[in-house]
Amino acid sequence: MRIEEYKDMIYACGRCEFCRGIDYNDRCPEIFTQYWESSTARGRMAIARGILEGKLEYSEDLAERIFGCFMCGRCREECKKAAQIDVIEITKAMRQDFVEQGIKIPEEGANMANTVTSSGNIFADPPKVHNKWAEGLEFIEGSGTLFYPGCLASHRFKEKTNILVRLLQAAGYDLDFLGDDQTCCGTPYWVTGKMENAEDYAKAYLKKLQDRGVKEIITPCPSCFRAFDEEYPHLLGIEKLPIKIRHTSEVLEEIVIKKKLKFKPVNKKVSYHDPCEIGRYRDIYDPPRKVLEAIPGVEFIEMSRNREQAFCCGGGGGCKIMYPDHSQKVSDERIKDFIETGADIISTICPACEMNLIHGTYAADLDTRVLDIAEIMAVSAGIVDPEILEPDYFPED
Ligand code: SF4
Ligand code: SF4
Repeated sequence: MRIEEYKDMIYACGRCEFCRGIDYNDRCPEIFTQYWESSTARGRMAIARGILEGKLEYSEDLAERIFGCFMCGRCREECKKAAQIDVIEITKAMRQDFVEQGIKIPEEGANMANTVTSSGNIFADPPKVHNKWAEGLEFIEGSGTLFYPGCLASHRFKEKTNILVRLLQAAGYDLDFLGDDQTCCGTPYWVTGKMENAEDYAKAYLKKLQDRGVKEIITPCPSCFRAFDEEYPHLLGIEKLPIKIRHTSEVLEEIVIKKKLKFKPVNKKVSYHDPCEIGRYRDIYDPPRKVLEAIPGVEFIEMSRNREQAFCCGGGGGCKIMYPDHSQKVSDERIKDFIETGADIISTICPACEMNLIHGTYAADLDTRVLDIAEIMAVSAGIVDPEILEPDYFPED
């Protein structure tokens, strides 16, 4: 069993309650949506211990406890004060054990991973549809700097992704794009535990990138960023890929630091949601804030739960697909944090967070735009019309 590798950590859990929080809506979105003790990190450590000791077996009854975790990392952050347990890696190992023991996993999760294998992206789009966001843009094949939007930014946020590329190009980045050759980064494999294709997939992808002369990848998606920067090296047994991987938050900060663009005022109150996979996973808290602070006229207002303590958007761990009702409930809770700020705009820098927060604003009947920080920067730099900031603006896609 995969969890045997984590035995010491599993036994280190002292049931201290840091990961669980005091109220149901305090820290962990899984207990917030399921209410059971077994749906907390400490509950999962007890389950893992029971399995290790042969007192429990993996079964379909446990699926919601293990696949209903948003992998938001809040528990792992709290556990740094307690026992340094890597709850995320243990949860991934439990999901893998499920698959390897042939126990049924949530159907939508299995379908998502199979769709990546059969069609190359999570939406089963043909390349022509998947690349529609890039219409009218020019790329430089072989420039060495690959723009890699990932599935969600390509499929769901065509206009936002188009704006991001125009912004980066205006700032002087010579971008390449894989076009019809772009496929999913592979995240659905490790999120659902379906790892049988993962290593070959990573190996083939790295070869494709190297054959094209890619030296650097810039991506707006924190999952794609971590896939190339963390999961691929792990799968391939190497320390680092021979390619530099940057999330757009760091690139936008570079634009500010190196004064690559001039900014005009954007007179809006803006709050910011920390995406789990660049925040808690990678400590990228300051770059997005520095970008917002650099835009004249922006009044930045923090949400009460921010940085390490930020509440999940509801999209992590594959829960958006496997448990959509739970996901919506978490988005609704996060939107309450935004409403308290009194800000005009909720900004973030992750396509998955944007989608969930947008769904949260719909449910709350809230007249506000959910924007990528790049869109606010693009308005300030005069690249797009300020109308995209207004609540009555409807993007093409
Ligand atoms: S914070 Fe860590 S040690 Fe404390 S109960 Fe949670 S998993 Fe166990
Ligand atoms: S990763 Fe997030 S959802 Fe999963 S147990 Fe930890 S705090 Fe809860």
